[in-house]
Amino acid sequence: MKLPLVDYHVHTARCGHATGAMERYVEHAIEAGLTELGFSDHLFMYWLPSDRRDPELGMAEWEHDFYIEDVERCRARYAADVAIRLSTEADFIPGHERELEAILRRYDWDYVIGSVHFLDDWGFDDARYLAGFERWDIDALYARYFDVVGCSAESGLFDTIGHADLVKKFGHRPARDQSEAYARLASRCAKAGVCVEVNTAGLRKPVGEIYPHPALLRACRAAGVPVTLGSDAHAPAEVAADLAAAVHLLHAAGYEKYVQYARRNRTAVRLPA
Ligand code: ZN
Ligand code: FE
Ligand code: FE
Ligand code: ZN
Repeated sequence: MKLPLVDYHVHTARCGHATGAMERYVEHAIEAGLTELGFSDHLFMYWLPSDRRDPELGMAEWEHDFYIEDVERCRARYAADVAIRLSTEADFIPGHERELEAILRRYDWDYVIGSVHFLDDWGFDDARYLAGFERWDIDALYARYFDVVGCSAESGLFDTIGHADLVKKFGHRPARDQSEAYARLASRCAKAGVCVEVNTAGLRKPVGEIYPHPALLRACRAAGVPVTLGSDAHAPAEVAADLAAAVHLLHAAGYEKYVQYARRNRTAVRLPA
């Protein structure tokens, strides 16, 4: 099926846990009928002391200029077939906002995705550290996680919040009803003027559902939070994966539009029927 849509969350092999040449990602986007492909590879591991940087989680700092050059090269080469956007998925680490701001300022992004993959030193979305869930009461974990995500929204550093309920990735469901937490997060995003991303990667994970949960998406709609679309592809065949399901979920939540970015300027675009 051809999808006149965009995929704004796409990684590259430089991050250390994705496969395939960037050209294959772009060609897959063209085959899928996408109008825009945004490369948003993980920002280099800037916040960790050098002895703790993990080459499986992101490129080295020296590689970053090459990543930018690769995106620009794809942008020129495929200009007739698909618009390529330059982005990064940057970790939000509380207390390190100013360092991140300085790094982000160095490049001419089309948009920046802010993601929470760590709570303190724990990479909770990393299958190598699953044991960490045993140290938490699940509701306390969800509350803490959503609070950090809300802080990421309020940091002003990001255009869209990546996989806003990533904490569910391995199927750890909250015991308590999350309505209030969802409404609070949606309102923090709305006040901050930041988008939330509808990310289909959850369908490929143990949780088996899109990020965010339908009820969180409805809360975002009620608060007036715009959305971006992304597959979180880590392989060429994952580009545009399940975007039709994302559109369906958005319609069910009452959305009629999503947003596209160029040079950090937002345009609302009608969703396909
Ligand atoms: Zn990744
Ligand atoms: Fe992520
Ligand atoms: Fe990602
Ligand atoms: Zn992601």
